[in-house]
Amino acid sequence: MGAQQSTFAASKPDVDVLIVGAGISGIGMAAHMKMLSPDRSFTIVERRAQIGGTWDLFRYPGVRSDSDMHTLGFVFEPWKHEKSIADGPSILEYLNRIADERDIRRHIRFDSKVLSADFDNASAHWVVTLEGPDGQRSRVTAGWLYLGSGYYDYDKPYEAEFTGREEFKGQILHPQFWPEDLDYSGKQIVVIGSGATAVTIVPSMAGRAAHVTMLQRTPTWYATRPAKDAIANFLRKWLPEETAYKITRFKNVKLQNLFFKRARTKPDKVASFLTKRIKALLGDKYDEKAFTPPYKPWDQRLCLVPDGDLFEAIKAGKASVVTDQIERFDATGIQLKSGRHLDADIIVTATGLKMVMAGKIAISVDGVPVDFADRYYYKGAMFSNVPNLAAVFGYLNASWTLRADINARYICDVLNTMKARGADVAVPRLEKGRELDEDNIYDFSSGYITRARHLLPKSASDMRWRLNQDYVRDVAWMREDPIDDGVLQFGHASQAALSDTHIEAAE
Ligand SMILES: Cc1cc2nc3c(=O)[nH]c(=O)nc-3n(C[C@H](O)[C@H](O)[C@H](O)COP(=O)(O)OP(=O)(O)OC[C@H]3O[C@@H](n4cnc5c(N)ncnc54)[C@H](O)[C@@H]3O)c2cc1C
Repeated sequence: MGAQQSTFAASKPDVDVLIVGAGISGIGMAAHMKMLSPDRSFTIVERRAQIGGTWDLFRYPGVRSDSDMHTLGFVFEPWKHEKSIADGPSILEYLNRIADERDIRRHIRFDSKVLSADFDNASAHWVVTLEGPDGQRSRVTAGWLYLGSGYYDYDKPYEAEFTGREEFKGQILHPQFWPEDLDYSGKQIVVIGSGATAVTIVPSMAGRAAHVTMLQRTPTWYATRPAKDAIANFLRKWLPEETAYKITRFKNVKLQNLFFKRARTKPDKVASFLTKRIKALLGDKYDEKAFTPPYKPWDQRLCLVPDGDLFEAIKAGKASVVTDQIERFDATGIQLKSGRHLDADIIVTATGLKMVMAGKIAISVDGVPVDFADRYYYKGAMFSNVPNLAAVFGYLNASWTLRADINARYICDVLNTMKARGADVAVPRLEKGRELDEDNIYDFSSGYITRARHLLPKSASDMRWRLNQDYVRDVAWMREDPIDDGVLQFGHASQAALSDTHIEAAE
């Protein structure tokens, strides 16, 4: 259906675009709207009391990015710090500065959790139910819903089951809920896990603790690189910030892309390159069992060890890595299947996140629940037959923000096209019963993804119906491919023919 002149005058919703979440994705969309769709109103609803999402929630020692900030930063705002691998507080400062300098903060409703959102075809409005901190409910209507709600459960992390957990006399901590003033000086610490979080916590705690043991069942691939990007800092000395940032971002995007593709095409070469670096850093402390994963590099997200800090701590005897399986927790620590016992005062369960879809919001269209697992991604931003809704799910093989920037720009273009056509509704239309050639873009064996596969939307081999994982290609394609591509249908409130409930009823 093309755009037609509406005979129905749709009432105005409370707000044109309701953005869920004041993290990187939500703040990024707000900034894009200010630049590209300034005549459309937006409100950000955020369940927490602060800006930052991930970077405000996680407070464990040493919390930092494991991507460079030239690509984890926004396309429109240079990263000006000397360190390219940044700590949590610097990322928070960056986000807060953007919110203030771009007059975004006054648009944020904090302490407002979105519980449900129902798209009403008759009015072309989302009817959204919010919950405040005391459980009081309110309602807001919006033309569009933009989900910057992240990808994991803010209430519940993934907790692996450990027999005897309650017998342990010390403290058990999960990185998602770190106590504010934990004194761990002189303590024996065991960190369970070997992913990005464990690899950050271990060297950070190693300074003050008596000893930190990283206990892993399976080793992870580690890449080392300096936390400061010498080229970026050189360029910043001689060039305007914007220009230096652009060049460094381009360099990092290309390098990351090349490295990922090489890992997928020549995994043995990349594995041997990574292993050589670790051997060189650890010398006689190198333990093959601890650093030889059973999978290929980039089958799971590659973990960064900035400035080789983990290996420094191991070399200094302040940290060690044990590869074993847990038999049970007991009063004084962890009994391993090999028969060895690890004494502990504190056990950190860096066992991962629990993925969720759409910020746990009950999404429906005309009262019919939307199950995202039945939907196809449309251009990595929208979903088949779901009107006026977009979400951000960042790259698995590159920085999250690269995708957040693409989606924000794209949705602003869609909003502008709708305005030009006088349309209230935009929906990626997929005929019922049409079979698409499915493609597994989640081709990663990371635990958090395999545990959540059944919740995630589908992707097809057709570029339009997938969450593609190649930024270099995506950024060009999204600009070149027309908004009006014959798939995205524009229409009006009360035409009641665009979203899936009506499609299903009509077919
Ligand atoms: C410890 C850690 C380190 C990471 N490091 C990197 C990295 O180096 N590089 C990288 O690319 N990615 C990294 N990631 C992934 C990271 O989450 C993203 O980079 C990015 O911060 C996600 O931003 P976001 O705004 O989409 O989501 P989030 O940061 O998760 O923010 C979502 C916001 O939405 C709010 N929200 C959620 N549901 C609702 C609701 N129903 N109602 C109202 N508000 C809601 C939340 O409170 C939160 O503020 C990391 C993740 C973690 C956990």
